[in-house]
Amino acid sequence: MDTLKDDSGLRTLLTSAAEGVDEDGVDPTIARLHSLIAGFSDLKASLDENNARVEEEDVTEEKHDREMSEEHDRDMSEDDDEEGTFSVVIIGASASGLGVACALLQASPDLDVRILEKSDCVGSTFLSWPSFTTFISPSFYSNPFGPLDLNQITPSENGPQTFTTSQHPTGKEYAEYLQNLSKSKMFGDRCLESYITFGVDVSTIETANYGGGTAFNIATSSGTDYNARYVIYAGALYHLTCGHLTLLSVAQVQR
Ligand SMILES: Cc1cc2nc3c(=O)[nH]c(=O)nc-3n(C[C@H](O)[C@H](O)[C@H](O)COP(=O)(O)OP(=O)(O)OC[C@H]3O[C@@H](n4cnc5c(N)ncnc54)[C@H](O)[C@@H]3O)c2cc1C
Repeated sequence: MDTLKDDSGLRTLLTSAAEGVDEDGVDPTIARLHSLIAGFSDLKASLDENNARVEEEDVTEEKHDREMSEEHDRDMSEDDDEEGTFSVVIIGASASGLGVACALLQASPDLDVRILEKSDCVGSTFLSWPSFTTFISPSFYSNPFGPLDLNQITPSENGPQTFTTSQHPTGKEYAEYLQNLSKSKMFGDRCLESYITFGVDVSTIETANYGGGTAFNIATSSGTDYNARYVIYAGALYHLTCGHLTLLSVAQVQR
């Protein structure tokens, strides 16, 4: 009761109750309750009205966002017809680049993906290993029993164990695994390798605008430019720190 500082309303109510009915024969307590209820009804009506207005504004805003996004998609797909423009460009055709390409194409086989690789083959970094260098992580032939080979890049195919003479693949054996996979892994009537452009050294990645949305412009040493809504850099940290690739104002693509 300490918190009931202003009790004048309550006093009035109790006094009215004690005095009984007024001269019109109406119990003042009941009359006051009626007026309170009427006040609440007004308040509720005004809240409902306000909620309806906010909902209407949300729907309009959502519609506007959807229209903008559709316009962006339309502009991008018109641009997709142009050579060198893709929804997704992946830089690097080695373990991580091919792995992420498989995951994307498995989820969406029609997705226009392009993998740009500066060397002339898949898994070139592994071919540069000395012949005595082997993987530390083991490759067991365990797929028939369920567990995955630790070194495989896609869960649905055989791992590098198919190409190894020991549990620890050499760089050459691992490159052979990647090369074989890129030829045999099919998405519809296309093999993974058909998504790769070899001999393309990416030099800069800049944000660019398409139909009010953000995308990327990818410049290469060959002079050919590529455009993409999403860029996945799979060129390894070594190439990022020691190579010449510059990432210019790379921003999250707004959708
Ligand atoms: C001796 C050694 C032993 C290792 N042992 C193990 C092990 O036991 N287990 C393990 O899990 N890992 C091991 N690793 C690490 C493993 O090799 C790397 O983590 C792996 O290669 C990374 O794969 P990646 O696809 O990210 O990069 P990478 O294999 O380096 O491939 C990057 C690709 O991107 C291309 N590229 C780079 N820059 C550009 C550009 N600007 N434009 C176009 N293309 C570009 C390159 O040509 C290359 O094909 C070992 C590495 C070494 C060196």
